[in-house]
Amino acid sequence: MFDWMDDVSADDDAAFYDQSGSYIPEASDCMRCGLCISLCPTYKLFQIEEESPRSRIRTLDKIINDKGLISTEDLEHLNNCTQCRACETICPSQMAYGQLFNQARETLLSSQASKPGTHFLAPLGFKLIERKNLFSMVTVLLAGYQKSGLAILLKKTPLLRLLKLDKAEALLPEVTLQNLSDHYYPTSQAFKGTVALFTGCISEHFDQKTLLASIKVLNALGFTVLVPKHQGCCGALHQHQGQSHIADQLAINNINVFNTLPVDAIIYTASACGLMLKEYELKDALAIDKFNVPLVDITEFLCLHWPEELKLNEAALSGKSVAVHEPCSQRNVSKVSEKKHQYVYSLLEKITGLNVQPLPDNQTCCGAGGVHCLTHPEVAEPLRAIKLGHFQKSNADYLVTTNIGCSLHLKSGLALKNISVPSNGASTLNKVYHPVSLIAELLKPT
Ligand code: SF4
Ligand code: SF4
Repeated sequence: MFDWMDDVSADDDAAFYDQSGSYIPEASDCMRCGLCISLCPTYKLFQIEEESPRSRIRTLDKIINDKGLISTEDLEHLNNCTQCRACETICPSQMAYGQLFNQARETLLSSQASKPGTHFLAPLGFKLIERKNLFSMVTVLLAGYQKSGLAILLKKTPLLRLLKLDKAEALLPEVTLQNLSDHYYPTSQAFKGTVALFTGCISEHFDQKTLLASIKVLNALGFTVLVPKHQGCCGALHQHQGQSHIADQLAINNINVFNTLPVDAIIYTASACGLMLKEYELKDALAIDKFNVPLVDITEFLCLHWPEELKLNEAALSGKSVAVHEPCSQRNVSKVSEKKHQYVYSLLEKITGLNVQPLPDNQTCCGAGGVHCLTHPEVAEPLRAIKLGHFQKSNADYLVTTNIGCSLHLKSGLALKNISVPSNGASTLNKVYHPVSLIAELLKPT
């Protein structure tokens, strides 16, 4: 059926083969079979052909091969894509949808037909995540805004909505000002090794709880943790917006920073960042070394190094239940992540008495999609509502996910709905956890 697969030859056009010699399908290789349609979240929402992967691949083909000659409607449907890559998991032609999408965005960007993001603050947002020092300074303003009462005041006025800042404000978590960077966290247990922690662009200030929990558990397992100061954004957001030249610079910086450290592994906590870091290895054009130690997801690392004798204080969660939201970056990009989401379940199963269940319909994207939830709330919010409906019906006490983007998006949805948990009637505002944060809370003092 797929004659081209038998014809792979190293002498053919190198642009269509990866380093291992495997054929990379072009947009025009889509057979229009439609198998991908059932997995596409935007097709599920809108139920029209234009919102299907098949239709988008036709648009990508036009952009890549006809250099951007597409209609405004085609562009709108293309931009509604959450880039979840669920379509890749079922495609018999093995279409590299994510890769084609990035390539098309780059073509559009160079032809000035589309700019990254649609919000007037988007260029500033991209600059902030490129420069951590600048981002740290802005967090001081954000913390002042949150703590001074200005946030409460402004939310009562229409100003945020009029300035189109209401969506961003809803996503904003409680900001932490202290830096973790350039610190060294030694273990007090029998020494097993040293690891470096990847913190990316926003986690230190927007999700420090997960990073501190990771350090605490790694220390308890006998690992000393380094948090290098000059590491930066993984580059995923830039890559997906067609700014691969900036993504490449960010990749080079991270590789240079981590390769100078005397560590046994690099640990990441956010699955989308981890996916991008792993994709550095696919960046053939980068004339640099790759990471010289293994790059490992925190849940996988903890499972692989969990000592038999380490016991948790399980009473606090006995009889409770968690629903696991599996980020698309973990479950859909099998070529890179090899279905690593199973480690989340293995790690949570170390908590005796805790009921662990997958969130129903995990194969469908929650709509977060990097900045997609900010640029396309009309797509992201209905998808989130479906997810939260599943959570509510599951009667689970906690919602667990390994990706900061999904976590912020889902938390903001819970804040809007103020969903109650059946077991204690409390608000679920603080019911979204990284699995490592749950584990850290149950560690017995040593
Ligand atoms: S990446 Fe996701 S949203 Fe985009 S076309 Fe594929 S399945 Fe649909
Ligand atoms: S499953 Fe693959 S080949 Fe079939 S329509 Fe979708 S993208 Fe095209």
